Amino acid sequence: MGEALHTAAAAAHAWLQSLDTRHVNAEHDVDQVAAVLRQPFPEQGARASDVVRELVAAATPGLVATPSGRYFGWVRGGVLDSALAADWLTSAWDQNASLLAGSPAGAAVERVAAEWILDALGLPGSASVGFVTGGQMANFTCLAAARHAVLARAGWDVERDGLLGAPALGVFVGAERHVTVDLALRYLGLGQARSTVVDADDQGRLDLAALERALEADELAHPGRPRIVVLQAGNVHSGAFDPGAAVALAHRFGAWVHVDGAFGLWAATSPRHRHLTAGLEHADSWGTDAHKTLNVPYDSGLALVADADALHAAMGERAAYLIQDDRPDPLATVPEFSRRARGFTVWAALRELGRTGLSGMVAGFADHAARFARELDALPDVSIVNDVVYTQVCVAFADDAETRAVAAALMAEGTTWMTPSTWHGRTVLRVSVSNARTDDDDVARAVEAVTRVLGQVRGGR
Ligand SMILES: *Cc1c(COP(=O)(O)O)cnc(C)c1O
Repeated sequence: MGEALHTAAAAAHAWLQSLDTRHVNAEHDVDQVAAVLRQPFPEQGARASDVVRELVAAATPGLVATPSGRYFGWVRGGVLDSALAADWLTSAWDQNASLLAGSPAGAAVERVAAEWILDALGLPGSASVGFVTGGQMANFTCLAAARHAVLARAGWDVERDGLLGAPALGVFVGAERHVTVDLALRYLGLGQARSTVVDADDQGRLDLAALERALEADELAHPGRPRIVVLQAGNVHSGAFDPGAAVALAHRFGAWVHVDGAFGLWAATSPRHRHLTAGLEHADSWGTDAHKTLNVPYDSGLALVADADALHAAMGERAAYLIQDDRPDPLATVPEFSRRARGFTVWAALRELGRTGLSGMVAGFADHAARFARELDALPDVSIVNDVVYTQVCVAFADDAETRAVAAALMAEGTTWMTPSTWHGRTVLRVSVSNARTDDDDVARAVEAVTRVLGQVRGGR
């Protein structure tokens, strides 16, 4: 066992050391990696350390350098050293974090990490926090608490009786909500396409006047019915934030307000960016990720719910064979029963950074994004499509075909990873900064790569 762990630690170290020089994209595709590993299920087992060596040899060519400082795809985050080490310990300790009695350490570290997160994000200290797998499950968990609360207020027990025969519930979402909001509504029996879709502006921000019109019309048609309004902190294309004033507006119509803040909620930690989230702290629930902006390894998300009882009512359960007292167990904050103790990595990242380090890291992401915008905008026939307010930059080249060609050529070239998308009818190259490892040199090398690749694309035409 000791040998297997040392082999793994050495391989992990070699991988991290290679990030600065390796091709950001994988060398082998999925079929090639599978072909190396494929054999009939072996009759005989193997030594643990040999298993690790075999895995490293087969997997390494198929790894994407996601933790590289020049990886700007989707919103992926990086990995802080303390969080990575804590993640190894989480597996070695193998705690089942479902019950207070099942792992006092797991529950205690989650409790302290939750207190720090609520403080850092400027959210109510009395909120309950569930340590889930990511933003998708954070949205699901928070919206389950929302569904419980608004139906309970209408005299309906959705946990006991389900949705058949329940009072009709109105859900309002912005036109540029993240797809995981629709999925969460699907899982909750609320239908992924039944929501009232509220218009968004040119940056993807929900339009306040449109929300007011929608809520007024709903109040006329269905006076006093249960309602949920879903807002967004951090649009994946523009990085824009829905207006905080939407919270008070939605509350006037009795709605529960949920904020999908997978990467955007962290703007609240930076004094220079805090204005972006102003007002959103008055919402009822917030979903966010630790594996994106906080730079904790996958998978780690946070469901934050102001009304702790609503969360515990939606998620909690008791059983005779468990050891439970009157205090809510961790299992009452998440959909899972058994799960890993996710608080260790989150606590470690927060402890490594401290308040100053966290706010500096988040501001640094936005500063790198602003530099990308400035330097790419200066290239001939290249424009920045969004107002760069946070960590996201959408770049358009001379036309859609050229943008697609640049995206493909960058992927093949391997200095950096930026993902193509379509936004407001235009093909764009998305640059998303969310890795603590990214420094000025990485940004400079990535801009050089785009410039070089653009020259090749234009030269080849
Ligand atoms: C990433 C993201 C999600 C989903 O989070 P996962 O961690 O991938 O489950 C939800 N909303 C927004 C705005 C996101 O950026």
